[in-house]
Amino acid sequence: MNFKNVTVAGSGVLGYQIAFQAAFHGFNVTVYDISDEILEKAKEKFNILSEAFTKDLKATKNQLDAAFTNLTYTSDLAASVQNADLLIEAVPENPKIKIDFYRSVAKLAPEKTIFATNSSSLLPSQFAKKTGRPEKFIALHFANEIWKHNTAEVMGHPGTSSKVFDDIMEFAKAIGMVALPIYKEQPGYIVNSLLMPLLSSALELWVNKVSDIKTIDKTWMVATGAPMGPFGILDVVGITTVYNINKIAADSSRSPVMLKISKKLKKEYIDKGKLGAISGKGFYNY
Ligand code: NAD
Repeated sequence: MNFKNVTVAGSGVLGYQIAFQAAFHGFNVTVYDISDEILEKAKEKFNILSEAFTKDLKATKNQLDAAFTNLTYTSDLAASVQNADLLIEAVPENPKIKIDFYRSVAKLAPEKTIFATNSSSLLPSQFAKKTGRPEKFIALHFANEIWKHNTAEVMGHPGTSSKVFDDIMEFAKAIGMVALPIYKEQPGYIVNSLLMPLLSSALELWVNKVSDIKTIDKTWMVATGAPMGPFGILDVVGITTVYNINKIAADSSRSPVMLKISKKLKKEYIDKGKLGAISGKGFYNY
């Protein structure tokens, strides 16, 4: 891997974190978004993020100054990729937006540019053809608060070259991630494939009155040594997201237990503004 220039497309919740993480680790990072106003907001968010790096990683002023020097910004897509070794796509989780984005950037990026998607739920094979370089297209999936929860799940589609896979594993390590190879396409990668059944089972135990929230969490923590139980995790994810995911599944499956969970989350949490850790109240008080 001899990447120097990395472009991050989309400076939203995940994109700006990925950009800063790569800049902090010495890469030249170009941040691309659809307007200069949005990029201005991203610059403000980098300042807040640098405080988190100081607190959580004990980053020094010199290191942070260097990270800021490594960042450039543009709302011109052609300019953003003209010299990119790697393009990390973190645009909204909407297939149409992603397809339009890949169609445009495929024509603008040089042949050498590897494309990586940070999509949480869409598979790379869905976009491979649109990139115009299927063998150089891969998923590189980060978790929110990437400087602390530093997983990088690396997952190709059947046409991804093994050299690209290895290069992306190496790049992930070079920016301070724990690189996790996934050998075949899997919706939800590893983390969410493991987490979703745990969280769903916890909600089922609760709604079926098998036990209470604290006891369910305590059981999981004491039995496995985990620092948090499923309801603690659900509070961090945010109850709005949990409700939305559950509602879509409940409406399509008509599963009685899921419909019951959906109703209870809405009445007892969403409608009362108890939205999880971010709102100060959820299954627990913060
Ligand atoms: P977001 O909505 O916060 O940010 C998306 C950004 O993309 C915005 O800044 C928006 O202006 C920009 N954008 C919109 N259209 C664009 C276009 N055509 N070209 C370039 N930029 C465009 O979304 P997010 O939460 O950062 O998610 C981005 C990707 O990261 C998604 O694929 C999501 O699944 C994935 N992801 C999100 C999380 C999370 O916790 N939020 C975690 C892991 C992965």
